[in-house]
Order: sequence, then C-alpha cells, then structure tokens
Amino acid sequence: MDRFDFHTKIMIGSAGLREMLKGFQRVFIVTDRFMKESGRTGYLTQYITAPGAEYRIFSDVTPDPDIDTVTAGVSMILDFKPDAVIALGGGSPIDAAKAIVYFAARQYDLRDCPFIAIPTTSGTGSEVSRFAVITDKAKGVKYPLIDDALLPDYAVLDAELTRSVPEKVTADTGMDVLTHAIESYVCTEANSFTQALSEKAVKLVDQYLLAAYRNPDDLEARQGMHNASCLAGAAFSNAGLGICHSMAHALGAQAHIAHGKANAILLPYVMSYNAGCESTLTKTAGRYAELAALIGMGATSTRQSALNLIHMARRMNVRMKIPQSIKDAGVSRETFEKILGPMTEAALADRCTATNPERCTAEDIEAIYRQAFVKSSRAFRE
Ligand code: NAD
Repeated sequence: MDRFDFHTKIMIGSAGLREMLKGFQRVFIVTDRFMKESGRTGYLTQYITAPGAEYRIFSDVTPDPDIDTVTAGVSMILDFKPDAVIALGGGSPIDAAKAIVYFAARQYDLRDCPFIAIPTTSGTGSEVSRFAVITDKAKGVKYPLIDDALLPDYAVLDAELTRSVPEKVTADTGMDVLTHAIESYVCTEANSFTQALSEKAVKLVDQYLLAAYRNPDDLEARQGMHNASCLAGAAFSNAGLGICHSMAHALGAQAHIAHGKANAILLPYVMSYNAGCESTLTKTAGRYAELAALIGMGATSTRQSALNLIHMARRMNVRMKIPQSIKDAGVSRETFEKILGPMTEAALADRCTATNPERCTAEDIEAIYRQAFVKSSRAFRE
C-alpha cells in the first residue's frame, strides 16, 4: 500500500516549546528516574509559569517499559487530568507516554490535550512514529503497538539535550538509527517518499555517528544524528521495518540486551540473509547497493556493493566497541540454547516480520540467530 502521512509538527531547538509551556495549566510529564533526579526535568518545569499552573512528573519508566508501568501511568494521568502531556527522555519514556495516553484516552477525553515528545537520545525516532514498544515481562516478549493514535502532536529536536548521553548509549542508539534507515529503505511497503527520508538518514549516520561518539560536545554531529533519528523514524513509521527488528525485540526481551545494541549485533547477519549473500543474490541486494553508492561505497558488482554496506555496519560496530556477537554480549551457550526456540517463535510472530523484503521461515530466523551467536564469518564471505 503506497501511503505517506506526517502528523507530528517538528520544532528544532527549544524556543517554540518555551512559548507553548507558558500557555499550559496542568502539565503531565513522563520521564525516567535519571532525568528527574539529575534535574533535567527543569528544562520543562522552569517555563510552566502561567498563574495557577501545576505539573506532575511520572518518572517510574525503566528501560523497555512494561505493562505495569503503563498501568501506573494511566491511573496517574486519569487522576491529574492534564491539559498537556510531555514525554522527556529516550525511547523508553516516549514509548511509555504514548501507551499511557493511548489507553487513558479510552477512559477520558484527551482530544484537546497536546502530546509533545522530546527525545534525549538520537535513536528510536519514537517522537514521530506510530509505534510504541511495550514489554510483557512475565512472558518475556516485547510487543510493538502500531496505531496512528500513538503519534505525538509535536516533537522537539534539541541536540543540546543529547550532549550528556554516555558513549555506549550514543553507540547503541546510533546503530538503531542506521537499522531503521536500512530496514525501512528495503522493506515491502517502502515508497519514494519514505526512501527519500531513509536515504538522508543513512547519509547523516555515515557523516556524523562516529564524530558524535568520539566527541560528545560536537553539537553539529549531535544535531546531525538527532535529525537522522527523526527522519528514519518518519520513514519506518510509514513503511515499516523488517526481521532485524523482530529478532532484536525477541533478543532484547529474552536476554536483556539494549534495543540498539541488539539491532547492531544482528544487522550484518540479517542484511546478508536478505541480500542472498550465501545463495542467490536477491532484489534486496540491489537496494543495499543503491545505499552503498549513496555514501561512496558502490563497487562494480551489486554483490560487492551490498557487501560494502554490510561491512560499513560491521566497521561502525567495531569502532564503537559494540559486541560482534550475541555471545560477546554476555549470553552463555546454555542460555542461548534455552531461549532460541521462544525467540524464534516471537520473532516470526512480530509485526515487523510482515514487511521484511524476503519471506522467511522459522528455520531461517533460527539460522540467523545461530550465526550471530558465534560471529560466523560465512555470511560475509567476499
Ligand atoms: P532508553 O530510553 O531506554 O535510555 C537508555 C539510557 O539512557 C537510560 O538509562 C536513560 O536514562 C539514559 N539517557 C537518556 N537520555 C539521556 C541523556 N540525554 N543523557 C544521559 N543519559 C540519558 O533508550 P533508547 O534506546 O532511547 O530507547 C529504547 C526503547 O525504545 C526500547 O524499549 C525500544 O524497544 C524502544 N523503541 C521504540 C521505537 C518506536 O518507534 N516507538 C523504535 C525503536 C526502539
């Protein structure tokens, strides 16, 4: 289905937000404990200055927000009855806020209550996506909710907020951006509009990710990555993703590996599978070759160009000290064998699998997990 929607208004920098905040009476802020305890919520609260204005902060969000957190947030928002909701943080607080607003709106009319998302990591693109990933801890499964009603009304992109992101989180979230850009470019629902966004995101990651990783105060690189994250978010929100995300959701839920890191480890193996590097070259290989050419890595053959893009992703991982395999990420052989079946089942059922460019079976997914467990080099043979 060819479609392209863009609901969220984007504000770059904080000036527009400051003006908006002065007009609200009851602001509900969703964030995590670090943001609150480090005083970063002052970014918002110092401007909630209308006479009689109040705010309430829900800061119980933990990485990979779960159903209990969303339930607690829903009861707090229903009690507070805000006239604006603001999510401040990485993908975890933004996703939690999206789910809180989504479920609370079934019990209380929030139609005139603007929802503003302010990312403090450059990774998920959640500020502009129709997705919210919520974990069922009891079942060990991450569920992507997908609905237009999850789209924030405003997104604020202020790279100043990302200066303090630790090296490891810059690396993981940056590879999340690359995965969004590549998967949305090749997936079954991609069209010219979404691909334009994916292409720009790939270029920006190539230009700025290592610079942001090496120098956290490089504001040009930080803003470049913040924009890349948002562009890739808008691309996959419209086009969808693929099995790298399905497999990363399952791996993250079962082995407790950060989302961006799980994507980073799996991406080269999934790309090799989708390109048919070990068997017959696919149409997807041609798409990878297009992206390789875009960043000056094209070669004379489609196969070599696709491999060059895969090697670029692997090189980024090495340079940013991201583990090269599931084993290197700290998962023992015994644990891996125990979780392999449930992970494969969950990845196959994940909603991102439906838009993967190549049809895959449970055996295919299991084989990719096995290659990624031991850092198999077969997938990348030139
Ligand atoms: P996160 O929100 O879990 O944050 C990771 C860590 O970074 C936390 O400890 C947080 O406190 C810290 N942090 C955040 N901003 C900081 C800052 N400015 N300075 C210092 N520390 C900071 O990580 P994330 O990668 O942004 O989000 C991951 C979540 O997003 C996962 O649950 C994933 O499944 C989900 N996700 C959602 C979408 C979507 O479209 N909705 C897409 C991809 C991923």
